[in-house]
Amino acid sequence: MKVFIKEFTVATRTRFEVVDITGLVEDAVSSSGVSDGIVVVHVPHATAAIMLNEAEPNLFHDYVDMVKELFKPDAQWRHNMIDNNAHAHLAAAVIGSSRVIPLRGGRMMRGTWQNILLLELDGPRHRRVIVEVMGV
Ligand code: ZN
Repeated sequence: MKVFIKEFTVATRTRFEVVDITGLVEDAVSSSGVSDGIVVVHVPHATAAIMLNEAEPNLFHDYVDMVKELFKPDAQWRHNMIDNNAHAHLAAAVIGSSRVIPLRGGRMMRGTWQNILLLELDGPRHRRVIVEVMGV
């Protein structure tokens, strides 16, 4: 079994942002030489998340609006007394910082409407993305 790790950085430009990183992950998978196994996509951050969903421009706004609706940035969160980003921690905790995708024949088994999306919740920042490919 091979284990391959690739890391890249995404520079976000606004506080809330959705970045389609599918191509970057696919490049990492290609260079891994692994054909069958699993791909883990992970952000080592507490205020960003990884989603597997449609890269449609209206939905990009909807994802952000959903976060603002569910984790209201202006609410009286206790964490905001020391750091003004409680909403980002809470949304990242619920959505999750990683996704696992099966790999078969060198292709990630994504659905047609499943792109790999980095969700910035407290930008702008430089976000590390770790892609680990394991298999044969
Ligand atoms: Zn914080």
